[in-house]
Amino acid sequence: MSTSKDRIVIIGAGPTGLGAGWRLQELGHEDWVILEASDRVGGLATSFTDDAGFTYDIGGHVMFSHYDYYDRLVEKLMGPDYTELDREAWVWMEDRFIPYPFQNNLADLEPQTVFECVNGLIAAQKAAARPVENFRDWVDTVFGEGIAEHFMLPYNFKVWATPAELMNHVWIGERVSVVDVEAVLRNVILRQGERSWGPNNTFRYPLRGGTGFLYDGMHAALEDHIRLDTPVASVDPVAKVVRTADGTTYPYDHLLSTMPLTSLIEVTESVPAAITEAAQGLHWSGSHIVGVGIDRPAGSTKNWIYFPEPDVPFYRVTYLSNYSPYMTAKPDQTLLLTETSQSGHKPEPADTIVERVIDGLISTGLMTEDDRDKIVTTWLCSPEKSYPVPSTTRDASLGTIQPWLREQGIWSRGRDGAWLYEIGNMDHSTMQGVAFVDNALAGDPETVWIPRGEGQAGEGIR
Ligand SMILES: Cc1cc2nc3c(=O)[nH]c(=O)nc-3n(C[C@H](O)[C@H](O)[C@H](O)COP(=O)(O)OP(=O)(O)OC[C@H]3O[C@@H](n4cnc5c(N)ncnc54)[C@H](O)[C@@H]3O)c2cc1C
Repeated sequence: MSTSKDRIVIIGAGPTGLGAGWRLQELGHEDWVILEASDRVGGLATSFTDDAGFTYDIGGHVMFSHYDYYDRLVEKLMGPDYTELDREAWVWMEDRFIPYPFQNNLADLEPQTVFECVNGLIAAQKAAARPVENFRDWVDTVFGEGIAEHFMLPYNFKVWATPAELMNHVWIGERVSVVDVEAVLRNVILRQGERSWGPNNTFRYPLRGGTGFLYDGMHAALEDHIRLDTPVASVDPVAKVVRTADGTTYPYDHLLSTMPLTSLIEVTESVPAAITEAAQGLHWSGSHIVGVGIDRPAGSTKNWIYFPEPDVPFYRVTYLSNYSPYMTAKPDQTLLLTETSQSGHKPEPADTIVERVIDGLISTGLMTEDDRDKIVTTWLCSPEKSYPVPSTTRDASLGTIQPWLREQGIWSRGRDGAWLYEIGNMDHSTMQGVAFVDNALAGDPETVWIPRGEGQAGEGIR
């Protein structure tokens, strides 16, 4: 039971805000509220069911897990109602499927491509150490020219909609499978392949309702404290008051903001010029998430496929109907969920994206021409911000902005709140919310959030 009387205001009912709410309820804390702009909870991890009875996530959401607390929470929310899946990830290139990770399964590619990849890798291994300034340098140094040109650079441009030269390499960690030369040679010479990698070799998925099922469950438990359709219009850090669009004010002792950090700076009053300037160093990309429901069985056990080549718009397609039989209206139907990024570096017109995605699904063999007549539904969702880009300017900006916010009693956390892709998954986000509560009420150190760039610039700005 919390004895603190502190007032806590939370902006946003995505996984981070709900994680904080869950912890507050668990501690028996009473004075708290979540203000959510939308008419539903879940944020980017919500799910939608359309009139045709197909259920969509905002892009393929695989449940990673790094935390016991999160595991227990998910277990409680899902009960026995989940599917358990083996990861089956593929790459489509040179008109064929090769297992992921690409670099450990080169043997299936054209001999010239295999040669360029292996030759580049050997050259990279022999090269003298050199400074790594950005993601492009890191790719060249670790993988060599062949793998860089054939996969890493084109694929990452499609994901991030940002040139690799403008990105840092601090975010990589477990997000990119790095290279194991022996595994490459075993594959190329002995034809042995590695068919799984990473933190999500097996994963669970809610039986019904998509990923959003988890957050709907949290909503039901926390309902009394959640205000939907309540966008925050301004934050006054001097008076410690949040004002919503309808003019209602919410005083706070501690404020957790999970809205995008750039938006928080825009709505906060009396922000020093150095903070506004630092926010210019934060860059993002958006997405077009297109779902296509087809009235025929999937005919594949694949879970998702990466598309590095530029001839199709999407960078990833998920066989969402393989995650649970309840993702489609009827048994033996298929639901393909595609993700296409967009930014100023890579414009993708919304009015043609559904058509271009269907053409791409046909050109890559995921659909046939005859399937056009079997399409029962399509779905488009285009979040303006879906990836907080780890730009070369990011960490200096965060190092300026975050300490100033904390001085105002504001924690900006979560995928776009912390602006840290490397801790931007659902488990990280939920746990950032939990850790915020323990930090604000009990002074426990935050274990998930990473104070990037602090001390690099602007410390002590008022
Ligand atoms: C394409 C894509 C694929 C992904 N794949 C995976 C995956 O495979 N596995 C995984 O674990 N995670 C994945 N994620 C990440 C996952 O969606 C995030 O971890 C999670 O949604 C972040 O939660 P959050 O609460 O920090 O932010 P959000 O989900 O963005 O929630 C923020 C909330 O704040 C609200 N808000 C914004 N402005 C205001 C305002 N002014 N006033 C009030 N409320 C406001 C928003 O409406 C929203 O509900 C993926 C994300 C994307 C976009």
